[in-house]
Amino acid sequence: MKNNNNPADPDQLPRAPESVVAYDAEHFANAVVPPIFQNSLFTFENFDEMVETYAGRKTRPVYSRGLNPTTRAFEEKIAQLERTEDALGLASGMAAISSAVLSVVKPGDRIVSVEHCYPDAFRFFEMFLRDMNVRVDYVDGRDLDAVRKIMPGAKVLYLESPTSWTFHTHDIAALCQIARDHGAVSMIDNSWASPVFCQPATLGCDVVIHSASKYIGGHSDVVAGVIAGSNEFIGRVRSHILPYLGAKLSAFDGWLLLRGLRTLPARMREHQRSATIIARNLANHPKVTAVHYPGLMEPAAPGLSGSSGLFSFEFAPEVDIPTFVDALRFFKIGVSWGGHESLIVPALVTRAQVGGPNSAIRFGVPENLVRLHIGLESAEDLWSDLATAIEASLK
Ligand SMILES: *Cc1c(COP(=O)(O)O)cnc(C)c1O
Repeated sequence: MKNNNNPADPDQLPRAPESVVAYDAEHFANAVVPPIFQNSLFTFENFDEMVETYAGRKTRPVYSRGLNPTTRAFEEKIAQLERTEDALGLASGMAAISSAVLSVVKPGDRIVSVEHCYPDAFRFFEMFLRDMNVRVDYVDGRDLDAVRKIMPGAKVLYLESPTSWTFHTHDIAALCQIARDHGAVSMIDNSWASPVFCQPATLGCDVVIHSASKYIGGHSDVVAGVIAGSNEFIGRVRSHILPYLGAKLSAFDGWLLLRGLRTLPARMREHQRSATIIARNLANHPKVTAVHYPGLMEPAAPGLSGSSGLFSFEFAPEVDIPTFVDALRFFKIGVSWGGHESLIVPALVTRAQVGGPNSAIRFGVPENLVRLHIGLESAEDLWSDLATAIEASLK
């Protein structure tokens, strides 16, 4: 993570791919924080410069849907953190997921996804890809033999580790090797671990995706996404998908994400510290029957150097979950995660969610399951809030 603290110092500027020099610190008074280039277009010096740029002999910002210096500074930092050649910022995590997948699949193709991936990724597969005649098969990513069996002919192996709601962890290196053996592109949603706790590219993963709305942004004030991968893969998304679907990361959001990155390692350490305390206390609580926190799993998941603040647990039948949720004072009731605030979502509410049979596949999770995001408040206060609410909700 060195060379990553002062984007305005030219010596510390992230290495851009040779052709892209979008943020030139010297021209901006060595500002310690990169400026927000809040403009749609960039004008040319003269006729020749425009011709050189259009001919592809010169790369410079032309229009912010393509290249913007602020978003470019963010992309370069993500590529460094994820140990990939390049990265591309998008308007949301879902834009990153759909753009990455759509850059590979054609009608008639088939892809394989691990079970319990992010619910809207699942709906994108089931509703959107299905309509374009792309088949998606789901597999338990913990069962390498099952993955080997289902991979032949698939174009993509789509991973998320740990998975949403159930927090199953995977052997990412082994799964990506299987994808490679079958000529498939491996992609992983790395939002949960963040690049601080996992760098999937170092484990052989081709494409790393984040909802930057979560830990990377870290302040619950931005919706954004990013794809990291080889020059070839990112170049393809940049040239074949981004201009036409158009879901580019905005300059202001890019600036918020650059700010988020500066505290990411410190925040991740604190989320881990508090979540470990609370997950341990829950595991020892007589009214809790299971805790799904990767940080408590033995043996630890390979490739994961830490555990973030999001996990789930299951209550014994004596606990009335609606009463418990309403008894909490510090945990707010809400989706998303990754910011300062602690949050709770009970699996029970998904019963009311529209989506028919799709939600049944997705929520093959027990209704006594509760998901927590442990924020940056005092762990002692959070634990006493949970313990008091459990006492208050015994049937
Ligand atoms: C939130 C989330 C997404 C989607 O990201 P958006 O920025 O909300 O579009 C994808 N994957 C995971 C694991 C998420 O939690």
